[in-house]
Amino acid sequence: MGEKNIVVVGAGVAGLTTAFLLSKNPRYKVTIAAKHMPGDYDIEYASPWAGANYMPVSAKGTPAQEWDRNTWQPFLDLAKNHPEAGVHFQRTEIYNRKKDVSSATAAWFADLVSPNPWFSTLFDDFREIPKSELKAGIDNATCFTSVCINTAIYLPWLVSQCLKNGAIVKRAVFKHIADAAAPGVHHSGRPADLVVNCTGLSAAKLGGVEDKSVVPARGQIVIVRNPAPAMYATSGTDDGPDEACYIMTRAAGGGTILGGCYQKGNWESQPDPNLAIRIMKRCVAICPELTGGKGIEHLDIIRHGVGLRPVREGGTRIEKEKINGVWTVHNYGAGGAGYQSSYGCSQAAVKLVDEALEDKARL
Ligand code: FAD
Repeated sequence: MGEKNIVVVGAGVAGLTTAFLLSKNPRYKVTIAAKHMPGDYDIEYASPWAGANYMPVSAKGTPAQEWDRNTWQPFLDLAKNHPEAGVHFQRTEIYNRKKDVSSATAAWFADLVSPNPWFSTLFDDFREIPKSELKAGIDNATCFTSVCINTAIYLPWLVSQCLKNGAIVKRAVFKHIADAAAPGVHHSGRPADLVVNCTGLSAAKLGGVEDKSVVPARGQIVIVRNPAPAMYATSGTDDGPDEACYIMTRAAGGGTILGGCYQKGNWESQPDPNLAIRIMKRCVAICPELTGGKGIEHLDIIRHGVGLRPVREGGTRIEKEKINGVWTVHNYGAGGAGYQSSYGCSQAAVKLVDEALEDKARL
């Protein structure tokens, strides 16, 4: 197989990770073309808004479990050996309240809050927190050391790795996915041999894809300067079935993320000030160290944020197909797990690219 021209559409964590892995192969000449790039903050661009951390929510025995599992080693390596990527270790505490069982948040976190989840063997220090040490209202809890990703550093780091490997990055907006293969999009000027579709929530509207099973799950956060001693997540809250409570401090001065909610079907881009107050109250209640035991007026707010998780019924779509005669590999719809499944999903997408281009070479 000679050189192949590939256009990756999308510069979120899915597009950049896939392009990063593809660009390691010297035969692949990769152009990344996207409407939004790292540095932009936009409601159509989920990746900058993420916490982000590695807290697996995938169910045992699913492809998503494999994608999450395959993502842990790369992040472990980044946290250990590449501080410039903006990924660091943080102690993690997961709290379960039995009364949350039927809520949207508890359904999303079902595997995460289990006392014996599939990922218990992934972390050397995974353990159940003894009942005697549990905070009031918590029925069971686990703790382990995971990682938190400063997206403001990590996304540009991914771009830098792609550039180092010879990829070209440019702005473009496509009405139809096959338009990405047209002459002039790939940096060679020639038509692309293959297009990778990493358009997130926009896959619901993009011509040639129009996947109506992709919907937003709105997440609202407050970013504060106050550090937290650990990352926390709970199975639910007393404020509504689609509200959540989680905390993480980003690496390298990225501030602390206070979350959140999981509002399916809600496209609202502006922060709800009442929800912001509830988020801050809940976070200070489970982590009083944030304000030295004082109230939310002692939180030092950097900004409020809203992002739309690209949720797909049936899970992330990693498939290949020909659209208007163009080989297209899809990698979209990771919902609330785009970072923690990023390497696993991208490895699976690269395998499909290899297969499709092998096929083409034989024709
Ligand atoms: P996006 O980041 O949305 O990128 C889509 C890209 O496609 C953009 O570059 C866009 O411009 C481009 N594009 C779309 N349509 C077109 C077009 N027609 N033409 C050209 N370009 C186009 N995940 C975790 O793993 N851990 C967490 O802790 C976590 N926390 C989160 C907290 C919040 C509040 C939110 C909102 C999300 C969180 N997530 C987390 C989920 C994660 O952010 C998403 O799964 C991930 O960002 C999705 O990435 P993506 O690359 O698929 O999509």
